[in-house]
Amino acid sequence: MPASEQLAIYPGSFDPITNGHLDLIRRASKIFHHVVVATLRHETKDPLFTTEERMEMITQATSDLPNVSVDSFDGLLVDYAREHGARLILRGIRAVSDYEYELQMALMNRQLSTELETLFIPASEQYSYLSSRIVKEVSRLGGDVSALVPASVLARLIEKHSNL
Ligand code: ADP
Repeated sequence: MPASEQLAIYPGSFDPITNGHLDLIRRASKIFHHVVVATLRHETKDPLFTTEERMEMITQATSDLPNVSVDSFDGLLVDYAREHGARLILRGIRAVSDYEYELQMALMNRQLSTELETLFIPASEQYSYLSSRIVKEVSRLGGDVSALVPASVLARLIEKHSNL
């Protein structure tokens, strides 16, 4: 099998990574030889965590998965994928509401690069309500999110909100 078919890119904001993302990464790591979790360096979305913080949290949370690596990118995902010789993009689908946006993105990416294929992986049932946004909101209001995020994230969330 050519190398490009063994490499999958999982792009996202991961602001911060949640147990839902992590579950998807773990499942994908059993299917593909290598999974790159690619953090979007967007300036427009005004993330709570810097790109470096987001990457550190993902690295810590995936340290037991030898075939998973962490990177960041800006600009077009298709360019990033091409530069790394990857042809597979992974995206998670939690509910029908995700599907419309994800499909639009996938079709646009295929329009930009016919070599690139997007694979949708359904979220695990127990995480299908979980998003980075809701974790940030609950944590900011003092709610317990320890069951929703890895330990590396929990500590930083508490620290971030105590400094706000
Ligand atoms: P983006 O800003 O690109 O949507 P996110 O970090 O919010 O980035 O999500 C990255 C990908 O992970 C998206 O495909 C999203 O649908 C998926 N995802 C988010 N939360 C979960 C979850 N709880 N379970 C499975 N997939 C998820």
